[in-house]
Amino acid sequence: MQELVGALRSYAWGSRTALARLCGRPVPSAHPEAELWFGAHPADPAHVKSNGSSRSLLEVLAADPVRELGPVAEGFGPRLPFLLKILAAEEPLSLQAHPSSAQALAGFQRENRVGVPLDSPLRNYRDDSHKPELVVALERFEALAGFRAPHRTVDLLRALNVPGLNVYAELLAAQPDSAGLRTLFTTWITLPPAALATLLPTVLEGCVRYLSGTGPREFTAETRTVLELAEVYPGDAGVLAALLLNRLTLEPGQGLFLAAGNLHAYLRGVGVEIMANSDNVLRGGLTPKHVDVPELLRVLDFEPIDLPVIEPEPGPDGSIRYATPAPEFALCRFDLEAGAEPVALADAGPGIVLCTDGTVELRHDGRELTLVPGSAAWISAADADIRARAVGGAAQLFSACVGDGN
Ligand SMILES: [Zn+2]
Repeated sequence: MQELVGALRSYAWGSRTALARLCGRPVPSAHPEAELWFGAHPADPAHVKSNGSSRSLLEVLAADPVRELGPVAEGFGPRLPFLLKILAAEEPLSLQAHPSSAQALAGFQRENRVGVPLDSPLRNYRDDSHKPELVVALERFEALAGFRAPHRTVDLLRALNVPGLNVYAELLAAQPDSAGLRTLFTTWITLPPAALATLLPTVLEGCVRYLSGTGPREFTAETRTVLELAEVYPGDAGVLAALLLNRLTLEPGQGLFLAAGNLHAYLRGVGVEIMANSDNVLRGGLTPKHVDVPELLRVLDFEPIDLPVIEPEPGPDGSIRYATPAPEFALCRFDLEAGAEPVALADAGPGIVLCTDGTVELRHDGRELTLVPGSAAWISAADADIRARAVGGAAQLFSACVGDGN
C-alpha cells in the first residue's frame, strides 16, 4: 500500500475549476485541466511515493511484476490492464468509438505493416487492445451514447420541421433498423461540403425554432445539444450525427458503460472513468484531432440501444458495484459514513483506491495512509486485508481492480 500521485492532463476541453476544486487547489487553474490519470500508461504513468522518493508506477511494476501484480501478470502480461481517471469536461469531447479486440488486433497489425509510426497523429491503432470504458458521475454528467431507437429519431427529425430533413426522415421511417441507421449516418458523415453547408444551417434554425416554440417539447435536451455542438464545432458533420444518438444525463453515482462500437461523445461533467489500458480511438468529428470516417464506419455498431446506464448495485461487502463485462477492470465505490467501523477492502489488490470526497484513512499491516479528494493509493497483489474508514465527516472511495474475467 503506497501513496499514488496522479498525472494531470491538460486538454482544451477541460475545466479550470472542477479538478482544482476537487483536489483543494486554488481556482481557476492556470490551464484547463481535463484528466487526472491513475495508472501505468506509458504516456503518463502515475507516481508511487514511498519514504520520500517517487517512482513511476510503470517502473514499480516492471521491477517486481510477480509481487505487484500477482496472477494478473500471467493473464494480461506484466502490466496493469486498466487505466483509472478523474475526468472533468467543460466542453464536448470528440465523437468517437472504440474497436473490438479483433478489430484492434487487425488494425494495429495493418498500420504496422504499412509503416505508420506509432506516435503519428494519423495512427488509429496505437496498441492491439480493445477499450471498453465505464464512467461514473461525480457531478451531473451529460453525454451522447449509442444510436437512439429509429422511430424516436424519425419523431425528432419531423419535429424540427426542416424541409431539407424530410428525405432523411422518410429514409429512416422506411427502414427503422440498424441498416437504416447505417445508411443515414454514413450519408451525413460523408456529405459533400457544399451539401453540408446548405443543410446544417437549416437544421440549426429548426432547433432554434423548436426550442422557442409553444408546442410540446420532448426533445429539448437533444436540440440544445445540437446547437451547443454547432457553436463549438461550426460546420462539422458530427453535429448532424448527434441527432441520431441517445442524449443522456447521469446523476451523481450513475455509470455509463461503452462497449466496442458504441458511438459516443461526452458533453460535460465530472466523473471517475476506468478503461482498458488502450489508446484506440476512432473519431468521426467534433474534434481538431485525426478523424478517420471509413475506419470509424468499419467498427461502429448501428444496432439501436436503450440508454447504456449502469445503475450501482450494493455488493455483499458494503461496496457499491458497477457491473460490466470488461475483463480488464472492475470498479466499485464505498460511501464511508462518519464514525463507522472500518470497512475491509477485499480483493483491492492489485489495484488502485481513489478518494473523491472527505478524508479516508487506509490501514494495512500496522501502517496508515491518509487520502483526501484526488489522492490515491497503489495496492499491490501482496497487500491483503486493507481497511478503510472515514476521518471527520463522511467520505467516498473508489476501488479499481482487475475484472472477474481474469
Ligand atoms: Zn470513448
